[in-house]
Amino acid sequence: MEGLSISSEPPSSNLADRRSSLAEYIDYPEARPECWYDWKWQLRNRITSLDVIRELIPLTRREEEGIKRATGRLAMAITPYFFSLIDRADPKCPIRKQAIPRLEEFSVAPCEMVDPCGEDSHSPVPGLVHRYPDRALLIVTDSCAMYCRYCTRKRMVGEEHPPMPVDRLDDALKYIRSKKSIRDVLISGGDPLMMKTEVLENYIARLRAIPHLDIIRIGTRVPVTLPMRVTGELVAMLKKYHPLYISIHFSHPREITPEVANACALLANAGIPLGSQTVLLKGVNDRPATMKKLMQELLKIRVRPYYLYQCDMAMGTSHFRTPVSLGMNIIEELRGHTTGYAVPTFVVDAPGGGGKIPVAPNYLLSQTKGKVVLRNYENKIFTYTEPE
Ligand SMILES: *Cc1c(COP(=O)(O)O)cnc(C)c1O
Ligand code: SF4
Repeated sequence: MEGLSISSEPPSSNLADRRSSLAEYIDYPEARPECWYDWKWQLRNRITSLDVIRELIPLTRREEEGIKRATGRLAMAITPYFFSLIDRADPKCPIRKQAIPRLEEFSVAPCEMVDPCGEDSHSPVPGLVHRYPDRALLIVTDSCAMYCRYCTRKRMVGEEHPPMPVDRLDDALKYIRSKKSIRDVLISGGDPLMMKTEVLENYIARLRAIPHLDIIRIGTRVPVTLPMRVTGELVAMLKKYHPLYISIHFSHPREITPEVANACALLANAGIPLGSQTVLLKGVNDRPATMKKLMQELLKIRVRPYYLYQCDMAMGTSHFRTPVSLGMNIIEELRGHTTGYAVPTFVVDAPGGGGKIPVAPNYLLSQTKGKVVLRNYENKIFTYTEPE
């Protein structure tokens, strides 16, 4: 880890401080710091109740109410690791807003939907979403290490559903085998990295055995909320199934800690191309400077920014959603102003099932026969003459 400079420090950059401040409230044997690096320990000790949170941080009334209402309805679980990134003195802390329910979560706007991206209507067999001609999304679990309050798949995450029946995978695989046009399968959830390595390997190996599949992808937030899950054992398994890509869900530069940098280094060193996915969230990452910092920090840990998502119209997300124009402004403040690799594609996942639609600032001022007038990032105007 030496030599890695992490410029967005968590509240206390001192890991021992972060750990010991939680020790009083969770079953954390101080004498055995290795517990902290044991992902199963982190999962066993997730913070799931109002009583514990109340002991750990001063809550606002809206948070207290939110937690009470979320209990038993919308899953709340926060790993001690992720919780340790919360700035307890700051009710506006971006980590806190993502993890701790607020009362606003229970006001549902008329436009909001149970299945905002119309995934269920594009599901030929349970657990498989086939929205695009050549790729499909396979939902393998409903568990996540931490439940994001703005989750677009709220309807299905939360460990309260019966375990995935094995024959469900058989049906999904049968469908993929029968559709020769599918050349890319994205394993998602929930979070696939929540599964035991052997179980995940079984899924990946069976996909790899399908001759017409070129690439396999995994979508995950675990490297951010439970970075200790990225073990040598997991990485050794994954690297057997190349070409394998991983998209990691990041929200804020403060999530990039030495632990996360280490997890990404292990994955990148195994030759796995890493991309990022970020949801644009009010009060979390809606300032262009915050987003630029996040994107630049991602490049330092070899994660290539991939998508910036407009927050989907999932139930109870009004307090997180922003105007679409804000995302366009953010892209405008990135493109040309920083490394091209640091610029993700801003997309709106069309409500009702239209798929991802890119929305970019307009650089094309006019297009007439043979002439195109453009502006650059500094608002200077240029004419390009097309061949006859
Ligand atoms: C996002 C998504 C994909 C993958 O889209 P890419 O643009 O190829 O990353 C595939 N299927 C579904 C249903 C999706 O939502
Ligand atoms: S990690 Fe993804 S699937 Fe899980 S709660 Fe967060 S947004 Fe939802």
